[in-house]
Amino acid sequence: MSLKGVFPVECPHCGEKFEADCWTIVHGDQDPEVKELFFTGEFDLLMCPKCDTVFRHEEPFVYLEPEKELVVFVMPEAYRAEKDRWIMKMRADFEQVREMFLAERGTSEPRCVFGVEGLQDILVSDRDRAEETEVMEFMASEAGFRVLSVIPEKARTHDILFSLPFAGGLNAESARKAVAELLKINSFLPRLKKTADLLEGLPGEEIPFIKK
Ligand SMILES: [Zn+2]
Repeated sequence: MSLKGVFPVECPHCGEKFEADCWTIVHGDQDPEVKELFFTGEFDLLMCPKCDTVFRHEEPFVYLEPEKELVVFVMPEAYRAEKDRWIMKMRADFEQVREMFLAERGTSEPRCVFGVEGLQDILVSDRDRAEETEVMEFMASEAGFRVLSVIPEKARTHDILFSLPFAGGLNAESARKAVAELLKINSFLPRLKKTADLLEGLPGEEIPFIKK
């Protein structure tokens, strides 16, 4: 469920004052058609009822994708000057309604971005990551490898895939082996290469970025 609020708006062309419905909470898992607006750049466009001018209007909102543990506070570019105050306010407001949207608290902290482009960057990167993960998982199943989910926040921070393949036991050695095998079959998987580097640098056999 996504939510809208009513906000006073002024047309930058003719000065007409009117009220507009703007999203206050966007649930990307449940409302893919709203999510799509971030990819097309139409999310915060309004049309003046008097002169038909189309213009951008920013209001703060929360973007959620519980399935991928994503919570983003999206604030207007102009709020950047008073960043800390607005982040605190959004956090407090969201705390009030959190339970309606997120069953579990999850491991990831909300991210804060100024301007809708910041959210767009995250969504485009997640979409590419999901596509590459799908390719990897298909190859892994062909090879008879098991896959485990990566903590989504870690996948974003390290820019790796949403899951990790294993050639045998659930340890780093077996993951290194599976990743190396899959890269031999298909070397055009940039995030799988990053996973290989990350596994190479692990101090022990424990993998800290796997979902328990
Ligand atoms: Zn107008």
